[in-house]
Amino acid sequence: MSQVELTGVAKRFGAYEALRGIDLTIADGEFMVFVGPSGCGKSTLLRLICGLEPPTEGTIRFDGRDMRGVPPADRGLAMVFQSYALYPHMSVADNMGFALRMSGVSTADRAARVAKAAEILQITPLLARRPKELSGGQRQRVAIGRAIVREPSLFLFDEPLSNLDAELRVDMRYELAELHRRLGTTMIYVTHDQVEAMTMADRIAVLRDGRVEQVGTPAELYERPLNRFVAGFIGSPRMNMLAATVAEVESCAVGIRLTGVDELLRMNVADGHGLGIGDAVEIGIRPEHIDLSGDGFRLPVRVSFCEYVGGGSLLHANDHSAGRLVIRHAGAPAPVVGETIDIRFPESACHLFSAAEIRL
Ligand code: ATP
Repeated sequence: MSQVELTGVAKRFGAYEALRGIDLTIADGEFMVFVGPSGCGKSTLLRLICGLEPPTEGTIRFDGRDMRGVPPADRGLAMVFQSYALYPHMSVADNMGFALRMSGVSTADRAARVAKAAEILQITPLLARRPKELSGGQRQRVAIGRAIVREPSLFLFDEPLSNLDAELRVDMRYELAELHRRLGTTMIYVTHDQVEAMTMADRIAVLRDGRVEQVGTPAELYERPLNRFVAGFIGSPRMNMLAATVAEVESCAVGIRLTGVDELLRMNVADGHGLGIGDAVEIGIRPEHIDLSGDGFRLPVRVSFCEYVGGGSLLHANDHSAGRLVIRHAGAPAPVVGETIDIRFPESACHLFSAAEIRL
């Protein structure tokens, strides 16, 4: 069991600031996912926690103990990488037990721990095979097994499913979540795939340009993103962003005019929102919150493209004056390309972003 606490952590490579101002606590037993676009610093953050790199500034504590100067091998953790890096000449059992053999664990204890991990991962029938006799998913399971046998108090995963095909990734996602439930060990998992993050995490930290933009449960990030970046990153297809200006202001409500639209969209906002008439804003609305009927805000759009996705379609409206829209349409039949349709969305499903990209 391990609680991981990062305080004021920064990492510079020469003049380049890869991470800055990271304050984050990962609770004992939590499944925390670091997600963000390529180059945002996720792997670097994981390497700092692992001890492969020292932070330039700040403190990393495990259960209150400062990890400064503590080598990776003494941190009680195990790391699983995207590349399985199994020894090709060794059997699955020997691969899994290798680190234990190196640290002097007895043959009997080693065999017991390998057998237990193999059972958890359902690879017992594969123990005598060589890596080349395994599928990609089985190899990744062996790599995870190699981590489990060490009985770490913290698991670190760096994009472990990236090499697997789409179907296997879904299966392995479930297996990892199940593994976490069974072991109850703290896990930190890095991915650029927000679907992976949403389906597995207890909490997600969204990173951008070396900073943590928001930390929260998947539902918190989806329902109450703090800013435009998080709103756009979480959810698939992405949230639609429509250009607008403020047309009316009251203390706790505003009237918003979408570019090229006469009717005002009225939204409740917190007191002290700071908006003034004429301010440029953006309205965010998720594709799944738009309907083709009902009594929400009405917007006529021309269908430019229709993607059949099984059980429904994604309608693309590319030439609206306020911006491009994607609509998830569950019903059949789908509207015809070129047709102008009325779309509807409730004001309560809209997110309002200031010019500074903050959600109000
Ligand atoms: P990806 O999803 O592509 O792996 P990431 O979010 O994991 O990206 P990092 O690998 O943490 O990103 O890298 C963050 C930034 O730090 C990148 O711009 C990268 O080029 C830079 N960086 C990482 N390691 C080093 C290094 N050893 N020396 C110099 N720059 C580095």
